[in-house]
Amino acid sequence: MKKRKYYLPFAVPSLGIGEINEVVDTIKSGWLSLGPKTQLFETQFAQYCQVDHAVAVNSCTAALHLALLAHNIGQNDEVILPSFTFAATANMIVNVGAKPVFADICPDTYCLDPEDVVKRITHRTKAVIPVHFAGHPAEMTKFNQIAKENQLIIIEDAAHAVGAEYQGKKIGSLGNTTCFSFYATKNLCTGEGGMLTTNLGSIAEFININRSHGISKDAWKRYTQGGSWKYQVISTGWKYNLTDIQAAMGIHQLKKLDRFIKIRHQLAQQYNLALNNLRAVITPTEKPGYKHAFHLYSIQTPPGHRDQLIEELAQMNIGASVHFLPLHLMPYYHKRWGYQLGDLPITEAVSSRILSLPLYPSLQISDIDYITSVIKNSLT
Ligand SMILES: *Cc1c(COP(=O)(O)O)cnc(C)c1O
Repeated sequence: MKKRKYYLPFAVPSLGIGEINEVVDTIKSGWLSLGPKTQLFETQFAQYCQVDHAVAVNSCTAALHLALLAHNIGQNDEVILPSFTFAATANMIVNVGAKPVFADICPDTYCLDPEDVVKRITHRTKAVIPVHFAGHPAEMTKFNQIAKENQLIIIEDAAHAVGAEYQGKKIGSLGNTTCFSFYATKNLCTGEGGMLTTNLGSIAEFININRSHGISKDAWKRYTQGGSWKYQVISTGWKYNLTDIQAAMGIHQLKKLDRFIKIRHQLAQQYNLALNNLRAVITPTEKPGYKHAFHLYSIQTPPGHRDQLIEELAQMNIGASVHFLPLHLMPYYHKRWGYQLGDLPITEAVSSRILSLPLYPSLQISDIDYITSVIKNSLT
């Protein structure tokens, strides 16, 4: 096969003239940081998710950190999560002083396995963090049931899942507290950014205050006309707020989100058509009752072939990536918490075979034809 002339990146943001004009408008307005556009973005995001509160922060990592703190999780507590996730999910658990307890994933959706979670609950367990892997929702009915029976808190890592649905309801409206990412590669992109959704007013208020230094509510208003110059520090918060420059992009990205997800589905379908007759490859599932957000299109390659396939794709000018290398085998988690090979058989098997292919709204059908031909050549 002939090598492509131009490099096909693994991920490309889908920003258009709407975002560009809104960012320019923000700069011209003179109000750059947390302000009216962030508030508008929050209101529209809450409406989109059908949830009472949405609070914008500067990353999903910050959202996870504040969610754990808001639920009073810290020293002597245990939090159950998948090892098959990004570093931030586990890092934040450790950063609030709690113990990360890794559980295995389901072999079809690659999301946290509720039955394996139950086995790992102890008297110290305080919370469970399901990750909606690639945009396929985790089994929220089961997690909410487990939470009820064991008095646990469910914090969702929905970094991949903005726009995903479970039983007709948007991710962000189902759990206790849900954390989203607007990082450059994610389905909704503001460069860097995040959102936290909840139906609990007290949690929303905690996040609101602690994303801005622990200064009492709506501190930013002290610089507006009619705003009060008085403020009170009521806790030792962080500096985790989103800015209006970022929210300017978010407002337009949100409007296009459903259309983008539709395109992602069509592209995934095109991949499936080409790859489903390759017996050695396992394509992603979308279980009945679930709406996949298709942030990632991740396949399982035949055992032992993944690394070579990435190399061959790179040689043909195609970007690919791996989501995820298991956290429990990372040096820090192995050394500090004693996790080792053999602890999570499904996670270990899947992560040795998993491969994410390019998937974004500007990807062309002809690109997919080319990518899948390279894969077929490599594996047959
Ligand atoms: C991207 C990602 C995060 C972190 O998001 P940031 O906004 O970059 O902090 C957390 N969890 C998962 C599963 C992710 O993919």
